[in-house]
Amino acid sequence: QAKEQGTSCYRFFDDEMNRYLSEKMQLENGLRSAIRSGEFKLHYQPKMAIDTGRISGVEALIRWYHPNLGLIPPDRFIPLAETSGMIAEIDAWVIREACRQNRIWTRQGMQPLPVAVNISGRHFEQGELPQLIQSIAAETGMDLRLLTLEITEGIFIRNHDKVVAQLEALRSLGLRVSIDDFGTGYSSLNQLQRLPVDEVKLDRTFMKGIANDPKKSRIVGAIAELLRSLQLHVVVEGIETREDYRYIEKLQCEEAQGYWLSRPLPAEQFISFLQTHAKEDREEIS
Ligand code: C2E
Ligand code: MG
Ligand code: MG
Ligand code: MG
Repeated sequence: QAKEQGTSCYRFFDDEMNRYLSEKMQLENGLRSAIRSGEFKLHYQPKMAIDTGRISGVEALIRWYHPNLGLIPPDRFIPLAETSGMIAEIDAWVIREACRQNRIWTRQGMQPLPVAVNISGRHFEQGELPQLIQSIAAETGMDLRLLTLEITEGIFIRNHDKVVAQLEALRSLGLRVSIDDFGTGYSSLNQLQRLPVDEVKLDRTFMKGIANDPKKSRIVGAIAELLRSLQLHVVVEGIETREDYRYIEKLQCEEAQGYWLSRPLPAEQFISFLQTHAKEDREEIS
């Protein structure tokens, strides 16, 4: 009996494993044609300036509408794209699409809106970003002063000098560089002062439960103050509730982002969000 159970246990494992591998293969194969088939879409999540309550910018976040598997979040396919050599192509698509959309909005008479895109560390290391972005700017007419690249701390582990040189090359194009998910990774505050970056996004794990945790809010306050003293622009992500917002409003941060303000939205809905937000008084939404 034990043996039988053992076998069925293996079978269960095999089934699970097979399903996992087959899905992984489906995703990997699918990735190769997803751009051509128009299966990617960008969603846009607004950021708000804490002092004025105005929408100060937007982050573009990729979504994959897979023909069989449905909507696939980036956490499930970006790592695959990184290991299967597809990430550069995907990131390039994202930058181009975000710039294209940005130009459309400006041509429609909208106030120029800064847009941030996420760049995979893997792609960053390939070293071709400055040329790529320059050619996308030429192609789309994007004003690069409106573009921010979000990178994570991980890229500073290796090749520090090369990374710094590339960041400098990028910033000389006029764009801004932001460190995403700050506080979860490798870079120390000490290292940060030597990096040519403009902005830091405090990871959302700092925000989780901040309203009920005085220690946490003091830590976040101290980090924000320190970052500010390094002349860095501070964005807090993961603001989910009005209580969260009340806490960070008092800190020395410039911008807030999170579900409390809005979830990431398709381009069309994002425009309606902007219009509604502009009409509302800040007090009403906070
Ligand atoms: P990220 O850049 O840190 O983006 C923030 C993530 O947190 C987004 O998830 C967003 O939907 C989610 N989020 C925003 N506000 C809140 C909140 O208040 N509470 C909670 N719990 N979550 C919130 P998403 O869109 O699933 O993206 C996940 C990650 O995938 C991103 O983290 C980024 O690292 C990566 N990613 C997304 N789009 C791209 C892309 O175009 N290229 C690359 N290379 N990576 C991307
Ligand atoms: Mg980001
Ligand atoms: Mg983040
Ligand atoms: Mg992240």
